[in-house]
Amino acid sequence: MVEDIIVAKFGGSSLANGTQFAKVKEIVTSDSRRRYIIPSAPGKRNSKDHKVTDLLYMCHQLASHGLNFDEVYNIIENRFLDICRDLKLEIKIDKILAEIKEEIKDGASKDYCGSRGEYLNGIILSEYLGFQFIDPKEIILFDENGEFDEKRTEIQVKETLKETTYAVIPGFYGGKPNGEIKTFSRGGSDITGSIIANAVKSKLYENWTDVSGFLMADPHIVKSPKTIEKITYKELRELSYMGAPVLHGEAIFPIKNSGIPISIKNTNFPEEPGTMILDDFSEVSYVGTITGIAGKKNFTAISVEKTLMSMDKGFYRKLVSVFETNNVSIEHMPSSIDSVTVIAANSEIGSKLNKVVEEIRIYCNPDNIVCYTDMALIAVVGRGMIKTRGISAKIFMALAQAKINIRMITQGSSELNIIIGIKNGDFEKAIKSIYDAFNKNGGI
Ligand code: ASP
Repeated sequence: MVEDIIVAKFGGSSLANGTQFAKVKEIVTSDSRRRYIIPSAPGKRNSKDHKVTDLLYMCHQLASHGLNFDEVYNIIENRFLDICRDLKLEIKIDKILAEIKEEIKDGASKDYCGSRGEYLNGIILSEYLGFQFIDPKEIILFDENGEFDEKRTEIQVKETLKETTYAVIPGFYGGKPNGEIKTFSRGGSDITGSIIANAVKSKLYENWTDVSGFLMADPHIVKSPKTIEKITYKELRELSYMGAPVLHGEAIFPIKNSGIPISIKNTNFPEEPGTMILDDFSEVSYVGTITGIAGKKNFTAISVEKTLMSMDKGFYRKLVSVFETNNVSIEHMPSSIDSVTVIAANSEIGSKLNKVVEEIRIYCNPDNIVCYTDMALIAVVGRGMIKTRGISAKIFMALAQAKINIRMITQGSSELNIIIGIKNGDFEKAIKSIYDAFNKNGGI
């Protein structure tokens, strides 16, 4: 019988120094099913510290302007030398560091530079654990345009790991057919872990971090929010897309079809249960209440009014094409009979706003356009909450009592969430009052 496999990804804070490496070793070796380990680059050791990935990007930026980056690179070198010294490892990390420095000097790409933190941490961790090192540039495959190639990757990972019982595979990057390095977006080691878990059909994908699971709300806004014990993929996707940290918003996709559960665990307190992320059909006990609240600031709402809009057959197509040709992603589009509001992130539309509005005017011939550039969106997520009487009433009552004016409401068609648009300035107060409505005095 083939033994169950666990894929374990360790985040940057779990591998920030020698002490953290020792905790990771303890965790990995305490269960022989933990066979494939995905490390991030060293993260912050304290709030004033720097993430190695940020320092590497800084080196690239300086080098690409022909500026000296010795000072920044020294900090990186010392981080890795300290880790090797603390762990009493005899690998020639100084030599590898010197080679990387030369590459950066010679104009290495941004992705190459950004990925070296994971690469170096992978080499160190594999040596420390006695596991094989596998460079993801050989198995996490991107095409020549830099798009992730899911099919080829799955075949390659399966093929390579068939022969390998224990391996460390750095997160965050892979390779293009011409051998160039390509990274995922920031925090992408979570995606690597998920890809590996899917390819080897692991029993469980563990994501080890520095918090004991997924919290119901941002702890910077709500004091000691409750931990979510169980959550489905879809709910998590909604929450992480809307800004809840912990797991990369795209980490669900590779394992979605295999239904592999993800366990979010705390490297510093491994005995704590953390959060279990389950497939969407799993039985969960909290149907009828909310699972979590997340949100993001800085959106623009463009409201377009036109009498008899619904009779104008090509209206929506024309409107959407203005956003498409300006390369602006649309977040939401709530509508009524004679008006529609398009909501886009300020980071997307920013300086293009006047141009977009002008083009809507020319192309769609509306009666009126009103822009509102100061909007925050809050997602209240919970499986089954939409079908349960009283939940949305409770949310809106909480906002009314906090004297918060709601500018927009949309209910996701997944029946999983309610999105509320408010003023940026009301953001924190809104999250706090919704959280309290469900949790203070026993909640619902
Ligand atoms: N080190 C990369 C970052 O800081 C990727 C990761 O940690 O997952 O974004």
